[in-house]
Formats: sequence, C-alpha cells, structure tokens
Amino acid sequence: MEEIQLKVEKAYPIDLGRGIIRLDPTTLLKLQLSPGDIVEIRGKKKTTAKVWRADRQDWDQGLVRIDNFIRQNAGVSIGEKVTIRKVEAPEAKKLVLALPESMTQGGPELQFGEHANEIIKRHILKRPVFRGDIIPIINSMSQPMTESLTTSQVIPLVAVETEPSNTIVLITEATLIELRKKPVQGYEKATRGVTTYEDIGGLGEEIMRVREMIELPMKHPELFAHLNIEPPKGVILYGPPGTGKTLIAKAVANESGASFHYIAGPEIVGKFYGESEERLRKIFEEATQDAPSVIFIDEIDSIAPKRENVTGEVERRVVAQLLTLLDGMVERGQVVVIGATNRVDAIDPALRRPGRFDREIHIGVPDTKDRYEILQIHTRGMPIEGHAETEEAGEAEIGAGEAPERERKEKVDKYLMYLAERTQGFVGADLLALVQEAAMRCLRENLPDLDLEKDAIPPERLEKIIVTRKNFEDALME
Ligand code: ADP
Repeated sequence: MEEIQLKVEKAYPIDLGRGIIRLDPTTLLKLQLSPGDIVEIRGKKKTTAKVWRADRQDWDQGLVRIDNFIRQNAGVSIGEKVTIRKVEAPEAKKLVLALPESMTQGGPELQFGEHANEIIKRHILKRPVFRGDIIPIINSMSQPMTESLTTSQVIPLVAVETEPSNTIVLITEATLIELRKKPVQGYEKATRGVTTYEDIGGLGEEIMRVREMIELPMKHPELFAHLNIEPPKGVILYGPPGTGKTLIAKAVANESGASFHYIAGPEIVGKFYGESEERLRKIFEEATQDAPSVIFIDEIDSIAPKRENVTGEVERRVVAQLLTLLDGMVERGQVVVIGATNRVDAIDPALRRPGRFDREIHIGVPDTKDRYEILQIHTRGMPIEGHAETEEAGEAEIGAGEAPERERKEKVDKYLMYLAERTQGFVGADLLALVQEAAMRCLRENLPDLDLEKDAIPPERLEKIIVTRKNFEDALME
C-alpha cells in the first residue's frame, strides 16, 4: 500500500477540533484519496483523520495541516514528519469515551448532563477514531456537558475503547456511545493547557520567532549546545493591550509541553515589604522544579520601570530581585521568562542587557485578514445564521448530505470577512468582546421563550438558538 511522509504544520484556525487533515492535490493523487476519505497518520503514535483539500497556497509544499489534538494523537509537533496512508475504516459498533483525570479536578465521578450523549454523537458523527485518541468536543455556548466543566471551550475526551478494537473505526448513527464515569489517566500533558497555536489569529511570523526562541531550545537543547549558541533566558513581547501577548505565551508553553507560571506585574509590586521579592523567588523556584517552564510576567513595566521613573523603594528592590533571579538561572532554555509590556522603552534598560531579556518581539494590531482569522476562531462552535438568499453552491467536498451545512459555513465565512473589513483598529480582545456581545444579544432574545424550569433545554429547542447577523450588527453599534 502506498504511503507518504510529509511535514506537519498547524491547522487552519477553523479546523480546530474537526478531526481533519488537509492534503494537497499531489498527495491526494499519489495516495488515490478523495476528500472525505480516511487516512492513518503515523508519528511516534498512530492516529487517524478525515481528508480535506488544502488551500492553494499550501500546494506542493510537502506539508500536511493537522490541529493540536491530532498532533498529540500522532505524537508529533509542528515541523516533524508523519507518514500518511489510506485506510478503510469499519463502522464502530461501540465507542467508550472518558474524560482525562486532569480535567476533573479531583472529583471522583463525573456527572454528565442529560443530553451529553446526543451532543457528543452529533459532534463526532462520520469521524474516524483510533483507540487512545483524544477527541476534542467544542463546547458551543449553549449547553454545559458536565457540571464541573461549564466554562471550557474545548473538552478533550479520550476514546478508551472501541469495538472492533485495534483498528481505525468510523462513528456512524448506529454506533453506541458510552460515557465512562471513571476518568482516564495518562493524559496530563495533553490537557495541561488547551491554548494552542490554532487559537491565535494572524501573527504567523511572530509565532514562528517565538517558537524558534523558546520551543526549539526546550525540545532540542543539543542543537544549541552543538552550535555553541545560548538560547535566550528572557523574551519581551511588546505591543498594544489585547493583541495576544498572553495568548502566544500560553500557546508556546502548551505546545512545548512546558508548565506555565503567570505573574501579574502590578500585583507583585502591590505587596507588603519583602513580600514581593519572596513571591518572585517562589515562582522562579517552582518553575525550575517544574521545568521545562515558561514564566510569564504581564505588564513587566510595572515591576521594572525605567529607573528615572522609579520612585519607590519597593520597585527598586523588586527590580534587583528580578535581575538576581535572571542572572542566577542556569538551566538555559528549560526555563524561559516572557515579559509583556505595551511599550518596550518603558522598562528598565538593565533588564534588556545580554543574558537577560535580550530578545524582543513586536506584537502588533491585526490587519483585515488577521481580524478575519480571529473572528473565525472566536465563533468556532457558535451557531451563526447563514443567509436566506440562495447562492451558487460550492463544489461538494464530502458528500451530498453535508452540502447544505457547507454552504451555510461558506456564507458565515463571507459575513465574517465583511465584519473584519469593518472593524479596523480592533484588536483580538475587542473582536472577542464583539462576538460575546452578539451571543448575549441572541441569548436575551431567546430567553422569554425558554422553559428554564426544566433541568435541561432539549436539543431540538437549542438547535433553534442561532446568533443572527442583526445580533452582530447591534453589537457592533455599541
Ligand atoms: P495581551 O496579553 O496582548 O494584552 P491577551 O493575549 O490577553 O492580550 O488577549 C486577550 C484575549 O483576546 C485573548 O484571550 C483572546 O481571546 C483574544 N485575542 C487577542 N489577540 C488575539 C489573536 N491574535 N487571536 C485570537 N484571539 C486573540
């Protein structure tokens, strides 16, 4: 059977959690695949995904696009290789799913909501699954699936058992889905944080630089040792608030399998005499024990402002402590401090000397294309009105049955592009607020007709709750 090795790249933002792999026409031809077919993906582990066509800019680059979850299922990161081959997947008679223990926060048994099975089934219908896979369920705003997980946007479930087993299976209407109450162990790292590169709109270049500076030295210290270059201890991300500095730091930590330690600058300096230094020291100590780690210092200018602006004794001592901690860090590359600030020239130059925060990356305001991506990210899993008027249907990619849904998606996409064009000057955080406001408006409209006395609103009713264009337009007028 023909197989092919390709380089892994991050998924398109809209693809997160959909269980698909994007392949270019050359690869499709070589492996005799059509969109909708199922492939086996082998890295350090084996997994599966459904085939979709790659966008034109990706053609003949020797790459595949898969999301964070498929990358974890295959045991690979961005830049590494996977082997792809076509497979036939028999129908799954049964699929047993469980939550990773790390997600249940110590609660021994999990209460799934009344309609959890149905919701999950709808999410994963027609998907291929291999035993051991993490299957992310994008939680739409409508219904919390479990009592303890109301706020999570993505819920990673683990396929602990399939029937038949030891083969890639396909979930169909006939598949019996069982939710195991006992959580599953061994997925701690997978669910440490669920912020991934797919959660970041735009900033492609910036992510690439952050990865080179942080992820690479963490994963391959031998490379840096071989070339006799020092990976950075500290990196400054600077740019306007709400542009994704925190988001990038979290994503790089998660994607590198590193722990994430957050320090809010203003909070540190607000402490009592001696407490600030102690707290800093504690966090650095924890991070060292927990290595590889990322320490993120938000608003670092409040801890270490330019000396001429420093008035208080506290600030002076906190800066001194931070410098001592940085200079004392020996495990180069395994612990990295990321500082975020709105203005890079607002921080103490002593901090920016070689061996300290000696790399700087500008995180700017998104352009139209970036805003479009950010809107796509934040409306993921949100039911949005397509448009009533009929337009020419696109080429059906995965069978006639899914064509209307595809058409709806295309229309939603067009509308998001239109919104992106009209939101010049909005940063990521503003776009998130816009989407949330539109959803709240939709909710308020629907509330009077809902029977809130019932324990759970039935899926048939939920399906009718759709965020309209008017909701977005009104939110935009705010
Ligand atoms: P900063 O640290 O630059 O002030 P954050 O990373 O805290 O900004 O952004 C706040 C929120 O706004 C994020 O959690 C995210 O939901 C959204 N956001 C900001 N920038 C982006 C982006 N580039 N892509 C997607 N979402 C973004």
